[in-house]
Amino acid sequence: MKTKVIYSEKSLGYGTWHIEGPQRVKTAHDILKSKGYEFCTPTPADEDDLFAVHDPEYIWQVKKGLVEDSDTPAYDNIYEFARLSVGGALLASKVNGFSLMRPPGHHVGRNGAALGVYTRGFCYFNNIAIAVKELCKKTLILDIDGHHGNGTQEIFQGDCNVTYVSVHQSPNYPGTGAVTEGNCINFALQPNCGGALYLKTLDKALCMVQTTEIEQVAVSCGFDTHLGDLATLGLIDTDYREIGKRIAQLKKPTFFVLEGGYVGEKVGLDIDSLLRGYEEKL
Ligand SMILES: [Zn+2]
Repeated sequence: MKTKVIYSEKSLGYGTWHIEGPQRVKTAHDILKSKGYEFCTPTPADEDDLFAVHDPEYIWQVKKGLVEDSDTPAYDNIYEFARLSVGGALLASKVNGFSLMRPPGHHVGRNGAALGVYTRGFCYFNNIAIAVKELCKKTLILDIDGHHGNGTQEIFQGDCNVTYVSVHQSPNYPGTGAVTEGNCINFALQPNCGGALYLKTLDKALCMVQTTEIEQVAVSCGFDTHLGDLATLGLIDTDYREIGKRIAQLKKPTFFVLEGGYVGEKVGLDIDSLLRGYEEKL
C-alpha cells in the first residue's frame, strides 16, 4: 500500500458513550492493520496552526471547556484531543496520507457553529481547513461525507484558492448546501439513492471543477453515506472503490481526512476499498 494511515491511540481517550466514539476508529485501525497498511503517528498542531482558520476567542473557549452544544460536549481535555486531530490532518497533507483521527472537523467554522446551524456536529476545529490553509496551494476540497460540510464552506466561500465540492444527503443535518454558491459546488441527494446515482452525481460535480488550475486535492472523507449509517445514500464497499478511482483520475497530490462514519467495521473496510480504488488508478 502506498497511502500511509495517520493514527494515534490517544484519539481513543474521550466520548465512549457518544455515537462519535472511540470504537469507530479503533476497529477501523485494527482492520487496516490486518490488511498491511503502514501507520504514522501525528503530533499535536501548534496553537498558531489553529489561528490560520479559527478566531482566538473561539480557540480559547474550547481550551477552557466553555463551549458545548447538544451534539458536541465540552469533554475534559477536548482541546488536546482536537489539536492532535488537527495534527493528523497536517501530517496527512505532508505525506499524502489518510488521517484516521477524531474528532472530525467539517461542521465547524471560524467561530464554532457555522452558517447559522445550531450545533458543531461533533466537531471542534476544522482539521482539513487548517491543513489546506497551511499548504497555501490551489486546492480542491472534495467532501464525500454524507452531511454537508457547512464549516468548510463558511471558511472558504469566496476564496479563490479553494474549490469546495460536496455530495451529501438531504434532508438531514446541518440543512445547508442545497445549492451551488460560487466556489462551493453542492449536490444534495435523497436518502438511499444508491451507488449508481451517487457516482453519476459525483462525476457531474467534478466536471464543474477547473482541474487544470488545481494543485492538490484534500478529501473530507466521511463514510456515513454507507447503507444504514447516519446519512445513508445506500453506498456499499464497491462504491467507495469507484470513488477512489475518480479521485485518482484527478491526477493531483491528494490527502484524506476522516470525517463521519459510525460503524467501525464498515469504516475500516470502506477506507480499504477507497484506497484500493485510488491506488489502482494512480
Ligand atoms: Zn457526516
